[in-house]
Amino acid sequence: MEQLLQTIEKLKAEIKEFAANKSEEVEAFRIKYLGTKGLVKEVMGEMKNVAVDKKREFGQLLNEFKLFAEAKYEALKQSTTSNQQSVDNTLDLSLPGDDLPLGSRHPISLVRNQIISIFQRLGFAVAEGPEIEDDWHNFTALNLPENHPARDMQDTFYISQNPDWLLRTHTSSVQVREMQKGKLPIRIICPGRVYRNETISARAHCFFHQVEGLYIAENVSFADLKQTLYFFVQEMFGKDVKVRFRPSYFPFTEPSAEMDISCLICGGEGCNVCKKTGWVEILGCGMVHPNLLDNCGIDSNKYTGFAFGMGVERITMLKYQIKDLRLFSENDIRFLKQFTAAI
Ligand SMILES: [Zn+2]
Repeated sequence: MEQLLQTIEKLKAEIKEFAANKSEEVEAFRIKYLGTKGLVKEVMGEMKNVAVDKKREFGQLLNEFKLFAEAKYEALKQSTTSNQQSVDNTLDLSLPGDDLPLGSRHPISLVRNQIISIFQRLGFAVAEGPEIEDDWHNFTALNLPENHPARDMQDTFYISQNPDWLLRTHTSSVQVREMQKGKLPIRIICPGRVYRNETISARAHCFFHQVEGLYIAENVSFADLKQTLYFFVQEMFGKDVKVRFRPSYFPFTEPSAEMDISCLICGGEGCNVCKKTGWVEILGCGMVHPNLLDNCGIDSNKYTGFAFGMGVERITMLKYQIKDLRLFSENDIRFLKQFTAAI
């Protein structure tokens, strides 16, 4: 009797420890313990050797043992079916996601945003206008009447359907539109794309980007212009960069100047970028020509103003030491992804 009790305890422990990952292992369990020649049946068969007065007690024990084995079998079936499901289901929500390649802002956008932010700190607001302009806003209002020789300075794309329309050659047309609104004082910067019929090379393209600025109020002087641009250069290129103004000619400003900064590559000693001069031109500027104010209905006896304009490509090339302007529009990922860290 003792031996039978021990066998049952031993089998119970075995069954309790039994683990299965696959349905084949569960089937093996069924055959070993619950099959027609299984261990449960074998132990039940021992009943016939049990003394009559003990039959009732043992019957109960053996029945419990059978139920125990059956319950284990059900539990094993359940767990392997759910394991099987999770193996089939390849989506594991607990895994970390795949990295998406991080894009970058275009260098032209980076620099344009930086220019805008510097002037916004000085109180300049952003103004925008159409890229397809009429002749008046692009030329005539800016003191460039028809047949004015200075129109030849900007080779223009005209719209063949209507020769009065053209692709703007500068964002000064936006300044005209703002001046026409008649709200003074005006303190704006005009970022945008402009178009000129130029041969594409390392230094020129048929489209490029400008940021122009305009400040009109009472008593605006050339000193204000210099101080504003000096602040811009220091913020953009650093405190050590020197500035110089050279007299120049633009039809829309009088007097006019071109502004140079000390070469960022050689620090003013002379290199290929600055053509051995130590200086690099970055923008044109001047006091707004009184004719412009009159053309736009602003009293030129009461108000004065200054304007400036720069090419974003030029500033970007200087800032990042890029030698070929065509890289900006070629969409070469190897070039563009170098600016990922600059966001
Ligand atoms: Zn240099």
